[in-house]
Amino acid sequence: MSILIVGAGFSGSVIAEQIARHTKKEVVVIDERDHLGGNCYTKRDAETNVIEHVYGPHIFNTDKQVLWDYLSNFCELVPFVNRVKAVYNGSVYSLPINLHTINQFFNSSFNPLEAAEFVSGLGDKSIVNPKNFEEQALAMIGKQLYEAFFYGYTKKQWGTEPRSLPATILKRLPVRFNYNDNYYANQFQGIPRNGYTEIFERMLDHKQIRVLLSTKFDSGFSLEEFEHVFYTGPIDAFFSFKYGRLGYRTVTFERGVALGDYQGNAVINYPEMSIPYTRIHEHKHFSPWERHEKSLYFKEFSKETQKGDVPFYPKRLEEDMVSLEKYQAEAKKLKRITFLGRLATYRYLDMQHVVEEALGVSRDFLKK
Ligand SMILES: Cc1cc2nc3c(=O)[nH]c(=O)nc-3n(C[C@H](O)[C@H](O)[C@H](O)COP(=O)(O)OP(=O)(O)OC[C@H]3O[C@@H](n4cnc5c(N)ncnc54)[C@H](O)[C@@H]3O)c2cc1C
Repeated sequence: MSILIVGAGFSGSVIAEQIARHTKKEVVVIDERDHLGGNCYTKRDAETNVIEHVYGPHIFNTDKQVLWDYLSNFCELVPFVNRVKAVYNGSVYSLPINLHTINQFFNSSFNPLEAAEFVSGLGDKSIVNPKNFEEQALAMIGKQLYEAFFYGYTKKQWGTEPRSLPATILKRLPVRFNYNDNYYANQFQGIPRNGYTEIFERMLDHKQIRVLLSTKFDSGFSLEEFEHVFYTGPIDAFFSFKYGRLGYRTVTFERGVALGDYQGNAVINYPEMSIPYTRIHEHKHFSPWERHEKSLYFKEFSKETQKGDVPFYPKRLEEDMVSLEKYQAEAKKLKRITFLGRLATYRYLDMQHVVEEALGVSRDFLKK
């Protein structure tokens, strides 16, 4: 009997690659989309020849050398540092908020110690036990920085007032007191030289692996035909939404093409409420080793997920977590089905997390 894997994103592809490499088992990978790679899929844009990150820009980042080395078996990871900017009130600032942002915003020339004291003084001391995202931010950085860089962006991204979001979203002080403007803090950061899709093509290029694209897993599948099923699709869909739909935010993209360089940077955020999009990404800046005459960019809009939309960011509101518990209890009873990945576990997971999880799940399966 063969193994069935639902989903050809990182979660499904890593499992398929590991089982094929370490056993003689036949593996069938299906995906309802007509391409590999899940949300990490990239392709060359026909008009500009730029590598397009079709479901939004992806930068692989991790502190774990073992994960960097694992992916390097399937592509050449080129080091890449994401330096994000924000346009607010007619000026361009550096993100995440750092010493440059603070000095520019307050027209000052603080050193790190002075800036730390200054920002600490901005925090709202009347908030002792922050009850929500807004109170947490106000307690940490005060009204001006919060309103400039967090209020509008968060409200647009989540479609709700920041005071109705949990305080736990802002765990650490979202400010650096040096000039480090590297968006990520992890040691290893990179993008595959030829885009992400090559990784999946190479992972799944094995005589024991059969890939069926444009093939949706639904109740018509007879699970008894398979020794084991690894399911990386949405957990609520697996159970026909019987406890309700789990809430997600999704994003849509408005495509544009420019001659030369459109905005001079990979990502620029627009935190103001008067601008309907959250950010603009210009994709040739994610492959700075390539040269292109034309440039491809996308304005990103955030919205509520409706039937047929791609679920992107799990909302994890109280009612979602109640339904999730019910789905997980049912899933636990199914001994021959493993649920993994961002959709089947209803978590926001970076690539490093899903790759690590899938390597762990395959290790456990192979031990049996
Ligand atoms: C806008 C955005 C930007 C991101 N940027 C980064 C970043 O910079 N760095 C980073 O590390 N991570 C980033 N991520 C996270 C990254 O996209 C995920 O970690 C990764 O895609 C998860 O892989 P997965 O295989 O679990 O899920 P997916 O990639 O979603 O793959 C699941 C697959 O299952 C298929 N499927 C679902 N249901 C069925 C069904 N019933 N039948 C058949 N097939 C089905 C889907 O079509 C899909 O291809 C970003 C995410 C988003 C939304």
